[in-house]
Amino acid sequence: MNYQDICPHDSCTGCMACLSSCAHTAIVLTEDSLGFAYPKIDTSKCVGCGLCEAVCPANHPVSRLFPQKCYALAGPEGLLRDTASGGAATVLSRHVTGRGGVVYGCSGEDIRDVRHIRIQSVEEISRLQGSKYVQSKTEGIFREVRKDLSDGRKVLFIGTPCQIGGLRNYLRRDWDNLITVDLVCHGVPSQRLLNENIDNHKKRYPRLVEDSVAFRLKKDFDSPRARISYGFYFRPAPGEDLKSIRWYDDPFMLGFLGAATMRTSCYECPYAYNVRASDLTLSDFWGLGRDAGFKSGRGVSSVLVNTSRGAGFWQEVLSALPAGIGVRERKIQESITGNGQLMCPTRRYPSVDLFRSLYPQEGLKKAIFKSLRRKRLKARLLRYIKSLKKLL
Ligand SMILES: Cc1cc2nc3c(=O)[nH]c(=O)nc-3n(C[C@H](O)[C@H](O)[C@H](O)COP(=O)(O)OP(=O)(O)OC[C@H]3O[C@@H](n4cnc5c(N)ncnc54)[C@H](O)[C@@H]3O)c2cc1C
Repeated sequence: MNYQDICPHDSCTGCMACLSSCAHTAIVLTEDSLGFAYPKIDTSKCVGCGLCEAVCPANHPVSRLFPQKCYALAGPEGLLRDTASGGAATVLSRHVTGRGGVVYGCSGEDIRDVRHIRIQSVEEISRLQGSKYVQSKTEGIFREVRKDLSDGRKVLFIGTPCQIGGLRNYLRRDWDNLITVDLVCHGVPSQRLLNENIDNHKKRYPRLVEDSVAFRLKKDFDSPRARISYGFYFRPAPGEDLKSIRWYDDPFMLGFLGAATMRTSCYECPYAYNVRASDLTLSDFWGLGRDAGFKSGRGVSSVLVNTSRGAGFWQEVLSALPAGIGVRERKIQESITGNGQLMCPTRRYPSVDLFRSLYPQEGLKKAIFKSLRRKRLKARLLRYIKSLKKLL
């Protein structure tokens, strides 16, 4: 087989615009040693039309804009319990599906096969809620988006910034009925690493309920000490309470938060800046001042409005906002300074290369605990000091 790169290998984000654009099934997916998918041209099938190279955002970057406005948003209690942050993605999805539109977003219903899906009713939104810290598959989804747009449906597409870049280039023109929403993104690990982590936990908990797996939790939700906590959460067996493994004791979460397991392109991500490729950008509002009056421990979303289409849509959402959802306009800089990936991509520390050299022989657990040994020790020490302080 003779396979050719579509863009420089290390710049490929895996957005799949090229795969979706090829009418000759001449794009094949190969996997690197960490399990990330890389599309390549199968030269035996290629007719040389050049479309795959033309739609690739690594070859032809999409335009990006500095935000016009910034808002803090937090849903009422019921919404905050179910959502990753302040629930902004759910609020936007409800607005669109409630008016006959369709929403595309990432579903983790099968946690071993996290992928983008299409929904068209308010009842289905729960399928998209929560952050899945893994690269979501988009194979075939851009074609469905184009079909909906051509049929005149209102479409809301939510994804990582590179997925928005891929979709925009794939579509090759602006559509008035499309709203794109990107998440501020720290980078993505691969599905293979996540599956290996689940398999490792299953050695100890063979009845582990896979659809209970989560990566962040709103702890002590009903108390003033409510906080978003990162870890690996799962039900060890049906009907049992959720088990939480602290982030630094779980190889997958340590690799994610220690930024050792990202796709290569994430370390040079062209989207991890304050200029954005989507109509709206959502993130956790980490830098939010107390004067905003939100209880940040249960999650507050930052909503950046980047384009005039985004501004029109956002005003529509605000004018029909259901009771109980708090929204305040804030300074744009407040959101940017609180969020590393609105300023620069995740740094490629030496631990990345160490992990990559160890992983093929040693597997996820050993390779991560060896390459992030110091980070883990530091986190454990801090935890110990904290618990001592509580005793005093
Ligand atoms: C890999 C990843 C890294 C992130 N890094 C940061 C960060 O560094 N800083 C920060 O402030 N926020 C980050 N976020 C965003 C944050 O965790 C929340 O997902 C976001 O604020 C939306 O919260 P919400 O309450 O509005 O979402 P909800 O209403 O709970 O809905 C979740 C939305 O997120 C989308 N989504 C979930 N997982 C994925 C995925 N893997 N790929 C694409 N879309 C997905 C779903 O389609 C859904 O629309 C990251 C998210 C992901 C998935």
